[in-house]
Amino acid sequence: MIKRIQGYINRFLDEQLDFQERIMRIVFLLAFAAALIGTGRVLAGADPDVLDSLIPLCVVSGLSLYIAVRYRKTRLAAWLLIIVSNLFLFPGIFLSSGGMDSGTPIWFVLGLVYIFLLFRGKDFWTALLLTLAAYLATYLIAYFRPDFMPEAERAYSFIDSYVTLVCVSCFIGIMLKAQSKTYEREKQVVEKQKEEIEQIARSKDAFFANMSHEIRTPINTIIGLNEMILREDISDEIAENAINIQNASKMLLTTINDILDLSKLESGKLEILPRQYEISSMFSDLVNLIWIRAHQKELEFKMDIDPELPSMLYGDEVRIKQVVSNMLTNAVKYTDAGSVTLTAKSERVAPDVILLRISVEDTGQGIRKDSLEDLFSSFKRVDEKENRNIEGTGLGLTISKQLMEMMGGTISVDSVYHKGSIFTIELKQRIVNSRPIGVINFAAQKQMSQRERYKQSFIAPDARILVVDDNTMNLMVAVKLLRDTRVRVDTAESGKECLKKTGETFYHAILMDHMMPDMDGEATMKAIRNQTRGFCQKTPVIALTANVMSHAEQVYQNMGFDG
Ligand code: ADP
Repeated sequence: MIKRIQGYINRFLDEQLDFQERIMRIVFLLAFAAALIGTGRVLAGADPDVLDSLIPLCVVSGLSLYIAVRYRKTRLAAWLLIIVSNLFLFPGIFLSSGGMDSGTPIWFVLGLVYIFLLFRGKDFWTALLLTLAAYLATYLIAYFRPDFMPEAERAYSFIDSYVTLVCVSCFIGIMLKAQSKTYEREKQVVEKQKEEIEQIARSKDAFFANMSHEIRTPINTIIGLNEMILREDISDEIAENAINIQNASKMLLTTINDILDLSKLESGKLEILPRQYEISSMFSDLVNLIWIRAHQKELEFKMDIDPELPSMLYGDEVRIKQVVSNMLTNAVKYTDAGSVTLTAKSERVAPDVILLRISVEDTGQGIRKDSLEDLFSSFKRVDEKENRNIEGTGLGLTISKQLMEMMGGTISVDSVYHKGSIFTIELKQRIVNSRPIGVINFAAQKQMSQRERYKQSFIAPDARILVVDDNTMNLMVAVKLLRDTRVRVDTAESGKECLKKTGETFYHAILMDHMMPDMDGEATMKAIRNQTRGFCQKTPVIALTANVMSHAEQVYQNMGFDG
């Protein structure tokens, strides 16, 4: 029985209902309860005249309640209650029970409070004006035609007024309490949901970080072992295959980094880290990156880099490079014939600040006017049909736009469909050294072929290093890549094994994986530095990681790694 009643109450104050609807139900219930109590009182022996008004009130509020709960037509129920009680019943009681000498004016207050609780917007104003007009008419009738009203006895007036005062204040009090209770509960629900959303966001971040690590590690193995194949004396066909494996793996790495960047941007965890940088080295990195790709597609790659650009600036070189390289890669991707032009200019906007303007122009397929708007929104690739065969995720420009905004700059595009596009970024950079860069000879840095015969840059048979990684595949790649240098390479598969070796042997350098079970790379590095009977307290420890995100180097140096 109790369970059943609880069920009814739960259904009655269903948490799925919106706030206003729940308040309405409480109001209808109270109105019904009031009328029921009044009717009961009269039936028990009070003044039977009042029954005329209480019975209809009981019926109407009961009906409103039924309509609201059964049919969910709360608006209809509210109007029913207001029309019957405010326009007919309360004025009727007023005129039939002695007007100002009765307790009815206090019921009028309840009628007005109903309106404030039940209605919103246009309905509210309509109900309020109608009620005020009805009350005014009632007062006017009472004033001008006192003969319409029975004379109230003095004792009756006082008792009626007191009882009404107590009833109405209790009702209003209960309604306010119910309202604030509902509000509190609503707030708790919202807070719980907020916490859940934050929890989901946290696990999403952790998932992305773990997943990208899990994906990068094997890709690095592929790239490393593939590099070993390229270093061998192999046939042209095998070399071509190996180069394609290399390109595809690098492409995959870029995509994973993009996804990770986007997830960081969304969670507000991506930071802009400004540092001093050489502008010529930035451009040379960009040219190295794009020149071969343009050459492979038989596109002409042109450059117009203002020799007057200051040689050293202060800003986030890594992020600027990321944005420009995305523009360059796109220009090459979406151009089948003609040229790609990289232009850089600057304008002094303050004694030590320039406005740097870098643009990339292509003679490619261009972008339709109506697609230009969508260009910078997440996952949008425009002209999907035409671009079906061109790899891409539609993330690059979204990330670029957000990065430019974070750096206080802009990215814009101008394009003529089937003629070509020009993407431009503009951002302010502080000058560190205003000496002009002059004319840079990038040609010297261009490598004609990706497959130059590998030659180790040094040989050091007396050097001894230790590579620490829990992944044996990584250890194998490291050992193989270092083979031609003739350095003596020892390996350790855990922090513990590493400490055992550094306690026995002196190493010139230690390459240390970051993510390892039990003792991670950071903890192991710190333990080496403080190892009492160790041989390697002063040995440089270099982080070995699949975390090739931008700024990784800075992050590891801050932890205390030497590189
Ligand atoms: P992706 O190239 O990986 O698809 P981007 O965010 O870098 O993603 O670019 C979004 C879309 O903008 C591309 O899919 C392409 O339709 C269009 N686009 C970008 N750059 C160019 C360009 N230089 N020429 C023509 N279309 C472009």
